[in-house]
Amino acid sequence: MVVAVASGKGGTGKTTVAVSLALSVTRAQLVDADAEEPNAHLFLSPGIRETVPVAMAVPEVHLQSCTFCGRCAAFCRFNALAVVKEQVLVFPELCHGCGGCIHACPEGAIERAERRIGEVEVGEARGRRFIQGRLRPGAPSAVRIVREEMTHLDRDVPAIIDAPPGTACAVQEVMAAADFCLLVTEPTPFGLHDLRMAIDLAAQLEILAAVVINRSGRWDSPIEDECRRRGVPVLLKIPFERQIAEAYSRGEALTDAFPEYSDKLRRVYAEIESGVRA
Ligand code: SF4
Ligand code: SF4
Repeated sequence: MVVAVASGKGGTGKTTVAVSLALSVTRAQLVDADAEEPNAHLFLSPGIRETVPVAMAVPEVHLQSCTFCGRCAAFCRFNALAVVKEQVLVFPELCHGCGGCIHACPEGAIERAERRIGEVEVGEARGRRFIQGRLRPGAPSAVRIVREEMTHLDRDVPAIIDAPPGTACAVQEVMAAADFCLLVTEPTPFGLHDLRMAIDLAAQLEILAAVVINRSGRWDSPIEDECRRRGVPVLLKIPFERQIAEAYSRGEALTDAFPEYSDKLRRVYAEIESGVRA
């Protein structure tokens, strides 16, 4: 089973939950798919055995065949090409690697070149498979990194994926690969707003979802009301407590600092499993 731990916004405690869930489930592997800011390794200090480069296609223009017709620049929705006088300028940092300009060129003057956008690291942490993606600064999208990470999953053991925050393309890629989505939120107006978007995304992708309320306390009811209204169960509440915040600031996994959370998270996983099987 593949469980995506996601959140509509950053800073909700998604990585805390993903790491602790992976440590609680027997043999579970952990995938850090938050390739723009991978930080699960800070809790786990994994040993990395393999680094796989990830590249995307960018256009390379051969001016000797070019008639400067401008069709490639007109085609590109990302303004990654500009035709000026007798030059075709390529802005690789704007290119999304769709390859459309290659097909749009009537002269066959554009070839596919490669630009490295990041890497996937595969290793081990506490006897568990550990996979993390890293997107290089300035690279346009982590989707290819996430796709590469998924190819390194061991399909025989449970996988917990720490998804990127938000609801953009890379999150959709993670959710589409998952059997279940565990949404981590916090009881604030911002948490509620972004939880709604995350629930909408899970519904659009027709993936089962449940919620963990982090920093839970007396402001929980709007989140609980929303979950009830949307038919999304709240499987765990992690209270807003100073000791938990202190353990986090020391880089300790929740289940290391508070072992009772191992049982709680195992119960969460059992509920997810029964939900997926139903
Ligand atoms: S579409 Fe081809 S021929 Fe036209 S400007 Fe672009 S590279 Fe040159
Ligand atoms: S590959 Fe796609 S995004 Fe990149 S320059 Fe060509 S049309 Fe634009």
